[in-house]
Amino acid sequence: MTLVIVAFLLGWLIFLLPLSPPLIQKDQHNKIIIDNVNIIDISRDNTVYNMRVMIQDGVIVRIASADSKMNTDDAFIVDGHNRFLIPGLWDMHSHLAFNEAAQISMPLYVANGVVNVRDMQGIMNIVEERRSWATSIDNHKLLGPRIMGYADSIVGDNYDRRNVDKVVQRSIEDPRSFIKIYSQIKETRYLKLAELANMHKVKFAGHYPLSMDPIVAANAGQRSFEHAHLFIDNSSFVAPILRQHYFERYSNDEVLKTPRPSTAEVLKTFDQSQFDQLADAMIKNDTYFVPTHITKHYEAQSSNEDFLNDDKLRYIPFLIKNLWADDAQRMKKDDQDDLNSYYLRGLELTGYAHQRGISILAGTDTYDPYSFPGFSLHTELEQLTKAGLSNAEALASATILPATYFGTQHLMGSVDVGKKADLILLKRNPLEDISHTQDIEIVIFDGAVYDEEDIRSQKEYVEKNVSGLSGISLTIKMIVAMFRDNNPEARNAGY
Ligand SMILES: [Zn+2]
Repeated sequence: MTLVIVAFLLGWLIFLLPLSPPLIQKDQHNKIIIDNVNIIDISRDNTVYNMRVMIQDGVIVRIASADSKMNTDDAFIVDGHNRFLIPGLWDMHSHLAFNEAAQISMPLYVANGVVNVRDMQGIMNIVEERRSWATSIDNHKLLGPRIMGYADSIVGDNYDRRNVDKVVQRSIEDPRSFIKIYSQIKETRYLKLAELANMHKVKFAGHYPLSMDPIVAANAGQRSFEHAHLFIDNSSFVAPILRQHYFERYSNDEVLKTPRPSTAEVLKTFDQSQFDQLADAMIKNDTYFVPTHITKHYEAQSSNEDFLNDDKLRYIPFLIKNLWADDAQRMKKDDQDDLNSYYLRGLELTGYAHQRGISILAGTDTYDPYSFPGFSLHTELEQLTKAGLSNAEALASATILPATYFGTQHLMGSVDVGKKADLILLKRNPLEDISHTQDIEIVIFDGAVYDEEDIRSQKEYVEKNVSGLSGISLTIKMIVAMFRDNNPEARNAGY
């Protein structure tokens, strides 16, 4: 008994242990000149050699050849010789997920040149935190990626009993927020939500509802569909049976009359005409596609010990590492060939979708198993090239296309005069090999310059937070928050 009390007290003390304070952004330079640099022109798939870029108050004000005259007085000079300049990257499917995001994930985004995110919410209630993080980042205080948009409310998750009027109302009040669609919402309620949202110009995006034909959702104005299963499951002769199965399941029917067709069956019954119809509807409605292939790649690799012993696990909190290990154990029981075929079919169909003109966006679904904050955006770019996008097209999926999604393409997303100077200086040319996006020398973000030393210390900061006593404290804090937030009362409060 005394032992139990001692253990409890010890746990409590560790819980109370404060984490290191969040990192703040470095001081801004009024004027930065990047000298003699090679600029990657993503839209033309071209490298423009030996240029000079002038940045004033965080905005690109001049681009000229390296030998042109520029007033260098008071400028901070960055040597761009033999280096390649790309715009800062966007993760269009992030989950900042935890109250401690500033300590465990945000610095990793910046260290990896991922300076803008669209955040998709998660199981913890971080609505207020995220709002204040977003403001603090915009005000050049907290170190983290700009949170360009965030899902404030979710509809269609396990606990959802939310009133759709209130859901829409909440997003009207905060223009940065949007509504996240999750798999379980059914058509009648979905269409009511869509009508209200459209009336008030509120965006909704996320999963396609599994019991619905995604063509209906695209026509109703859903802004993006997430995850590769969209095309795989809906370009199959068994697609209507899948929908019926989910309709019964989400209607809480006592007995499921329609069993779910197996993965093998789905893969065997590809139907080009259904693919074409869905693709056409998405093009007509300007619906974006965020395939997050790395999540399927992980599933295909879940029996590969080398893959599972990833070196980057050192940046991942104990609790999440454990959840990932459990997931991999479960995955091992699945048919490995099916998992691999499913992953490969996903890549193939993203390639088709891209060829037909659907805008593909890079997203990671971070904290899904083996999706590492910041790092995995680069892995997703590699996956997109495997799907058939050129290196420049993969880069576009993480730069100009996300900027266009948010209607900010005149201000962000490329290395051009008048745009925000969110920039990454690479040691090697990413048009030659997309993995070169990982050879980062400098990240320029909001007028501040982060060199290799800064980047290293940002990574070390996270590694320190998630290990040792601090890591245990963090895990206890996360578990407590999970109990607090992950229940029907908490999830539906305020709706
Ligand atoms: Zn997600």
